[in-house]
Amino acid sequence: MAARGNLFIVSAPSGAGKSSLLSALLKDAPADMQVSVSHTTRSPRPGEVDGQHYHFVSIEQFKALIADEAFFEWAEVFGNFYGTSRRVIEDTLARGIDVFLDIDWQGAQQVKALMPEAIGVFILPPSKAELERRLTGRGQDSSEVIAARMAQAVSEMSHYDEYDFIIVNDEFEQALADLRVIIGSQRLTRASQCHTHNDMLDDLLAD
Ligand code: 5GP
Repeated sequence: MAARGNLFIVSAPSGAGKSSLLSALLKDAPADMQVSVSHTTRSPRPGEVDGQHYHFVSIEQFKALIADEAFFEWAEVFGNFYGTSRRVIEDTLARGIDVFLDIDWQGAQQVKALMPEAIGVFILPPSKAELERRLTGRGQDSSEVIAARMAQAVSEMSHYDEYDFIIVNDEFEQALADLRVIIGSQRLTRASQCHTHNDMLDDLLAD
């Protein structure tokens, strides 16, 4: 019997490189890992595909899903609603697949309360100067817009101490390797190994 999958919560301020790290991790679509596709009420950005990046829904549809208790967690982030489907998470974990939730600190708190064994990973930029450089992008935004993004980032980062692991994304390949180490070590915990190797352990310990 396949072990139940692990649930990973990945949070970061905008500009820390979370999306790039998760896409690199899932690049070759490993069969034992999946990123959860959230529902959101925000509009798609250019290039975003419905059902792939998000399930884009209206506020009415989102509220109906809340009423149906369809969400494992949900939150309002910067004026839009975001939520994680309960059924998809439960089904995927039951199939032995590790699930990654790309969610904010509010969602992370809800998930930890419901499932304390979920593993929280927080990604930090190496410095404020580097974060500002990443948030400045192509230099097309006003200093007010950049200052607002920095303030949001600092607010998100203030929750770093609610997570189990911290990755500093200074050098991308190193940060990706760190993420892989966290996932690999989680699969080797006694609880996980006992589940996977139940029969082997019975056999090894039999008289
Ligand atoms: P964006 O609109 O830039 O894609 O995402 C904005 C923020 O919402 C990010 O911090 C992202 O992690 C968070 N987010 C995305 N999906 C969910 C979700 O299902 N639940 C919660 N709580 N946050 C989410």
